[in-house]
Amino acid sequence: MSERTELQRKPARAVTDSDAIHAILDEGLVAHVGLISDTGDTAHPVVIPMLYARDGNVMYLHGSPASRLLRMAKGGAEVCVTVTLLDALVLARSGLHHSMNYRSVVVMGTAIEVSDYGEKVAALDRLVDHTIPGRSAQIRAAHEAEVKGTTVLVLSLDECSMKARTTGVVDDPDDLDDPAWAGLIPVGVAVGEPQPDEGSIGETVPGHVAFWSRGPGQLNGRPVDPERTN
Ligand SMILES: Cc1cc2nc3c(=O)[nH]c(=O)nc-3n(C[C@H](O)[C@H](O)[C@H](O)COP(=O)(O)OP(=O)(O)OC[C@H]3O[C@@H](n4cnc5c(N)ncnc54)[C@H](O)[C@@H]3O)c2cc1C
Repeated sequence: MSERTELQRKPARAVTDSDAIHAILDEGLVAHVGLISDTGDTAHPVVIPMLYARDGNVMYLHGSPASRLLRMAKGGAEVCVTVTLLDALVLARSGLHHSMNYRSVVVMGTAIEVSDYGEKVAALDRLVDHTIPGRSAQIRAAHEAEVKGTTVLVLSLDECSMKARTTGVVDDPDDLDDPAWAGLIPVGVAVGEPQPDEGSIGETVPGHVAFWSRGPGQLNGRPVDPERTN
C-alpha cells in the first residue's frame, strides 16, 4: 500500500488483507497491464490483456521477447496491473443505483526481468499451473530454447490495493415501493465440457481437466452451493 494505491472514492470498499488480495490474484485469469508506451511526442498509454501468475508476494508476466509491452516494462517503464473478478450485476429500482459486485486488485511498480534459469523455469510452470492447476506435472518440461526464448518479468506486490463491492441493492428509500424487479444476477466464468483434440479422443479425461476450477472444491473460487445440481 502507498499513497497512490490508497482508495479515494468509497474507501470503505478497500480491503488491505494480503490473503484476500492473493486470493483474488489466484482466482483471476487475465491481468490488464498498463504502461506509457514510447517517449516524447509519441508517448501514449496502452493497456494490454495478459496471463499472469502469483507466487508469494510477487507476480509474473511472460511473453515473446518481441513484445513491445514486455520490452518497455523490462526497460524500466512503470506498470499498472489490474485483475478484476465480476461476481454479480446489481439491478436497482433506478438507473443511478444499478451497480456490479466485484473484487479487484491494482498493482503498481517496476517489473524486473527474471534472468536466473531455475527461477525462470519455476515461473513458467507457475504460469501454466495458474491457468490450469496441476497441469505442469502432466506435460513435458520446457526445452532450454523455449525457456531462453521467453521473456519473464517479476513484479512485487508491495504497492497494491484491493476494492470489493459485495452487498445487495442500495435503493433510494422513496423508490422502495416501485414495482420494478430488483436484485442480483450472479455471474462467473462458465466451464464447458472439455473438448479433446484428435490425439486425445477416447482417452480418459484426467482430473485436472475434468474438474478444472479456480480452487479446490470451489466453482470459480466461490463455495459450491450443495443444493445446486448442474
Ligand atoms: C486473455 C489474453 C491473454 C494473453 N496473455 C498473454 C501473455 O501472457 N503474454 C503475452 O505476451 N501476450 C499475451 N496476450 C497477447 C497480448 O494481449 C498482446 O497482444 C501481445 O503481448 C503483444 O503485445 P505488444 O505490446 O507487443 O503488442 P503490439 O502488437 O506492439 O501492440 C500494438 C497495438 O496492437 C493492439 N493490440 C495488442 N494486443 C492486443 C489485444 N490483445 N487485443 C486488442 N488489441 C491489441 C493495441 O492497439 C496495441 O497498441 C494475451 C491476450 C489475451 C486476450
